[in-house]
Amino acid sequence: MQLLGLLVIWIFPIGTLCGLAALVIGSQMSKKTICSRCGNRVEKTSQICPHCQSHFDR
Ligand SMILES: [Zn+2]
Repeated sequence: MQLLGLLVIWIFPIGTLCGLAALVIGSQMSKKTICSRCGNRVEKTSQICPHCQSHFDR
């Protein structure tokens, strides 16, 4: 699905899609955070990364 999204970005007018993507990413980022150790997306409320078991200091 992510690959499809990447393809679509190059087919459709880039500006519009970048704006939409930014909105979607923005809403995702408000709920999820990126693990600084493994780079996976993690729920902002969780204290431990489910992928690498890294603890978040926050
Ligand atoms: Zn992690």
